[in-house]
Amino acid sequence: MTLHVPTLVLMLVVGFGLLTAQLWLAGRGVLHRGELQRLGWAGLAFCAGFASFVMRTGVPGWLALLIGNWLLMGGLVGVASAVCRHLLNRDLPVWYFGLCLVAVLSVPAALNVATPVRAGAMSVAMALLLMPAAALAAWRGWRGELSFRVVTVMLVLASAALLVRGVHAALWLQSLPEGNDAWQTWSSAIFMLAFMAVLAAGFGFVLANFERMASQMRKLASVDGLTGACNHNTTLSLLAHAMERSRREGQPVSFVMLDLDHFKRVNDQHGHVVGDQVLKAVAQCTRGRLRGSDVFGRLGGEEFGLVLPATGVGGARHVAEQVRQAVEALVLQGDAGRTLRVTLSAGVAEAAFSDTPETLMHLADKALYQAKQQGRNRVVVADDWLRNSSLQGVTG
Ligand code: GH3
Ligand code: MG
Ligand code: MG
Repeated sequence: MTLHVPTLVLMLVVGFGLLTAQLWLAGRGVLHRGELQRLGWAGLAFCAGFASFVMRTGVPGWLALLIGNWLLMGGLVGVASAVCRHLLNRDLPVWYFGLCLVAVLSVPAALNVATPVRAGAMSVAMALLLMPAAALAAWRGWRGELSFRVVTVMLVLASAALLVRGVHAALWLQSLPEGNDAWQTWSSAIFMLAFMAVLAAGFGFVLANFERMASQMRKLASVDGLTGACNHNTTLSLLAHAMERSRREGQPVSFVMLDLDHFKRVNDQHGHVVGDQVLKAVAQCTRGRLRGSDVFGRLGGEEFGLVLPATGVGGARHVAEQVRQAVEALVLQGDAGRTLRVTLSAGVAEAAFSDTPETLMHLADKALYQAKQQGRNRVVVADDWLRNSSLQGVTG
């Protein structure tokens, strides 16, 4: 098989051009993410770098090589920067710029040496720039979005191809005179392969970003943004699921409704910002007292709900009491350096066989109302009397 290297280079120009155009268009819509912007700049640098290799007319050969290699290196730095932002949410570390300096200086230093040596040196310098990104992708990216695995595999492949080209040139240095066509073609093919892999990594990276946005949107649809608790709808469906399961397995399930006491006063005296901080602190404190299988939801305002699977009314009362005591012990930072304490009241109800999520919640709400009536900062368990009066309330 004969490879026509200029055609391959042209294909890379087109490929990186398309990637750049795609990222530019996506960036004008909802995908204006920092990592995609960096990848867009990298695509542009690759496109221009390869274009400068094929369009040498009117420019001295050494200048085209200098600019072309620098542009490709700039593109690789862009890829590394995009990976770093995506996986660590930060810029490239300072030590990486040491690698950049070595790579940049290696280009003019290698201009006057024989072609095989120069090709090898450039490849090693480029591998040096790409390997940290490949290692980071393998270390932190594999367990993230599934599409990111393509990025990892492609970056590892590209780094390996660049290294192989460099090592091969070093091993056969003596026996590779300038103008050895077979070697040149082989070496160029490996080089092209490396950048095809970078191109594939680029498209994989776009998909991984879509995947990340989709999962963030899914999360936003089910989680309360302020406290990280499940929102009302999710809590209700998880309660329905837990009740269904408890019926099938013959296990109890309980629901606890929590409401902060006199929370309006907190807002009035310290402002809404402090009020929000209090809600976050209470949520964190409550979550710390729950099991992994329990559900913690925000039902609205300063009202929270706990779904406690495999827990009877005694266990639920214990959990609610623990949460009550923990919240009572919290010392929070109020407005103007003042400290602030809050308490909560809780209503506990265990599901009966015939309960629906709505009737169980209503029962817990009734018990909570009793707790408020009895002076707040306490836990009240729904008894039979409350259940009967609650049923009357529901049935009208
Ligand atoms: P009670 O002991 O009877 O529960 O008194 P309360 O003042 O807590 O009762 P109520 O339910 O009447 O008031 C709840 C207040 O919670 C109303 C509102 O000011 C505040 N609130 C609700 N949601 C939020 C929120 O997201 N952030 C903040 N800062 N305050 C909220
Ligand atoms: Mg309240
Ligand atoms: Mg309330």
